[in-house]
Amino acid sequence: MKKGIDISKHQGVIDWKKVKTDGVEFAMIRTGYWTNYVDEMWEKNYSGAKSVGIKVGAYHYSYSLSTADAVKEAQFMISLLKGKSFDYPIAFDIEDTKQTGLGKKVITDIIVAFTDTIKSAGYRPMIYINTNWRNNLVDMTRLNELPLWQAHYPPDPNLRPAAVDSRASMWQYTEKGKVNGITTTVDMNWDYDDLSKVNPVLVPSPVPSPAAVNALGYVTSLISTNNMRVTSGYRTSARPNHNGIDFTDAQRLELKQDVGILAFDDGTVTDTTVGSLIGYSVSILHANNLLTRYFHMKAGSVRVKVGDKVKKGQQIGIMGTTGDSTGIHLHFETKERSTGGISGTWVNPESYLLKAIAIPVAPPQTAAPSGTLKPKDKVKVVQGAKTYTGGNLASFVYTRVHEVYQINGDRVVIAFNGEVTAAVNMRDLVKV
Ligand SMILES: [Zn+2]
Repeated sequence: MKKGIDISKHQGVIDWKKVKTDGVEFAMIRTGYWTNYVDEMWEKNYSGAKSVGIKVGAYHYSYSLSTADAVKEAQFMISLLKGKSFDYPIAFDIEDTKQTGLGKKVITDIIVAFTDTIKSAGYRPMIYINTNWRNNLVDMTRLNELPLWQAHYPPDPNLRPAAVDSRASMWQYTEKGKVNGITTTVDMNWDYDDLSKVNPVLVPSPVPSPAAVNALGYVTSLISTNNMRVTSGYRTSARPNHNGIDFTDAQRLELKQDVGILAFDDGTVTDTTVGSLIGYSVSILHANNLLTRYFHMKAGSVRVKVGDKVKKGQQIGIMGTTGDSTGIHLHFETKERSTGGISGTWVNPESYLLKAIAIPVAPPQTAAPSGTLKPKDKVKVVQGAKTYTGGNLASFVYTRVHEVYQINGDRVVIAFNGEVTAAVNMRDLVKV
């Protein structure tokens, strides 16, 4: 259960450091109201809360009298959310006396129109209503999928009364709270579901492509572009304490669009710690006590929570650079777990990923390969060829002249401009 506040310009200038020290964990911040009013403190409150690490959601006060109004209000709110990131949902605050006479159907239509518009823009919507609205003015049976934030002020704010819907994720228990750093009274809330753990931002793009799978059935592409490139290997001589492999998208697509992180195999999420070193992370326990861990995800992008069952290739977050990280990448590590939790013995992920991906290798071997190619030969990959173990290759691979980097039997690692691109079968290469 987390303690939070909801605020607007009515709270004046807020000392966010003091608010944080007073134990406030999240803030729902008013963007504005109707289709044209921006709360004067919206920007300041957003950056103030973020600067001290208070988790942020937003709400918009509605004057809508029709679904057309509601869509306009939502579009206006969306324009105010642009470029910002949210840990908490995006809430629709409907409570105005001008709306109470509209009738259950129209009011519920308005709520659906607003929240659907928010959702299609990639945010997770939520509805804010008080108990009277919940009981008398809204058709709740049509809103089963919508997270609920209910206002109800009982005499004892520590006892959640029965009047608060059992499925309400958030309860606003008073409008007369006192918090250090805020000179006025303030609305206080309990979040029962730790809403920040559920990614509020849906990911509109890219649509994860079917993940490549190796001979053992494991996902060999851990990112949605199926285009992994290793930037740092497992316990290399330069980084002997690097207990995983770092990957990025070979085309650096992540600089232009979100790149999804995919679960390595079926499993259960055991950890979603956010740490100063690992950033936003997910750990998944698979069969045979194999634990896979994914670090440095984009803030707020984690879309699974502890206990979730995930499927092989399912998107669990977005590649990012949170924590101690230089540039957008995925740090992926595997542990053979014996003691539970996230402890266990690190193993080289390569042994699980097998040879389907191009792992940085020692300098080209001197031993001449048995075959027609040798290191440093210029080659082209035949159109439609796969990686050595059957994964997909990025389309640019077919168009570029590569250099043979390393040969092991019929397995040939090719490089472009000194960077390893892929491992392919020798029969798929043509000398140029
Ligand atoms: Zn790493």
